[in-house]
Amino acid sequence: MKKINISWAIIEARVADFQKALFGKPVDVVMGIARGGIIPASMLVQRMSVTFLEDTQLKTVDPFVAGCFDNYAGKHVVLVDDIADTGATLKFFQKEAEKKEVNLSVLVVVDKDAYLARKKCTENVWFIFPWEQPHLDSPGGRAQATAAILRSINEDLLREGLVETPERVAKMWDELSSGYSLRPEEILAKKFSDEDYDEMVVLKDIKLFSMCEHHMLPIIGRVHFAYIPDKEIVGVSKIVRLVNCFAKRLQIQERLTMQIGKAFDKNVKTKGVGVIIEATHLCMLLRGVKQDAVFKTSFLSGEFRESSSTRMEFLKLTGQE
Ligand code: ZN
Repeated sequence: MKKINISWAIIEARVADFQKALFGKPVDVVMGIARGGIIPASMLVQRMSVTFLEDTQLKTVDPFVAGCFDNYAGKHVVLVDDIADTGATLKFFQKEAEKKEVNLSVLVVVDKDAYLARKKCTENVWFIFPWEQPHLDSPGGRAQATAAILRSINEDLLREGLVETPERVAKMWDELSSGYSLRPEEILAKKFSDEDYDEMVVLKDIKLFSMCEHHMLPIIGRVHFAYIPDKEIVGVSKIVRLVNCFAKRLQIQERLTMQIGKAFDKNVKTKGVGVIIEATHLCMLLRGVKQDAVFKTSFLSGEFRESSSTRMEFLKLTGQE
């Protein structure tokens, strides 16, 4: 089923148009049909009090409960609902109004059949009103936040290419933030010990995709990683996973470099660790300064820091000279 978000702007516009159409016709009471009609009903009353300084009465009515029009014979009643789906609710109230000789006007925010006919849509749709949407800090809130950005840049949320974008972006962030749930000590738990190899181990050109925390735009580059084993070595894939564990978070390159080096230092016995990251930041490329300069950062510990020959070897092996 297709989900369509009804924005506050749409509701405001519907209420405003309805009020304009009422111009000059005094209203005795506005009734919001529980629960969805109550909010647009109160928006209408609020508008009336601002524009006409009218003190219109606001009531709520439950659908299919008779007697709500008692005492309103000959009065002008505005009935408000959020959506007309089958139309059964409105038919019930229209019959009641006839019986009690009430002068009835109806405001429906979304007329489902009219909407589907206008959009030539045959698929069933589900309308979601702002007060039904998840809170911002819930997973569903991501989609809502994305929709808010689209609205703020004057995009039409209902146009074909954008209808599913908020949900799609919300889902994408599961992947982009997957590093937060990974633990370096688990990634590096399996080690091969009692190995005699004590020369530098270098992994060059590990692909790096991260997101800058200042603009939430990609950081794309390469990680060069090296260590000198101290009777412990780890599988190559573990090093790639360690990089991703920190890359799939919101980052700044300096911290990312340090985190990779320090986590390895902490969880594997080595004589030193070296990390170099070369990356381009899309926020620099797309905005203001428009620079595709490569940003380099490094982390060095143990022999990489203490011995200039080790450091030189590392730089040479990773193509830094
Ligand atoms: Zn940035």
